[in-house]
Amino acid sequence: MADDEDDARRSDHRIAETVLRRLQVLDHPRRWQAHVEHGHLVLCDDFDDPVQQHLASIIAIAVPGVSSIETHLRSTCPHHHRGRLAGPAH
Ligand SMILES: [Zn+2]
Repeated sequence: MADDEDDARRSDHRIAETVLRRLQVLDHPRRWQAHVEHGHLVLCDDFDDPVQQHLASIIAIAVPGVSSIETHLRSTCPHHHRGRLAGPAH
């Protein structure tokens, strides 16, 4: 049973996977986590480094389907407890 909402969720998940795969050029694959909701991407990591966040944003915005980006420190990430998480499990 696939409605539009399910399709959107599946494509958000694919976007997150693609973003994380591309971000491996910056650092080890487990560094970043991605939350995607309707094309809005949130990246979080444990290092509050504006240069790395900027580079990651440049790479991520090139991924098809990404419409906007926020970056957060993982410990203060407002999206982290919503249960829609892609990438390595904690
Ligand atoms: Zn997060």
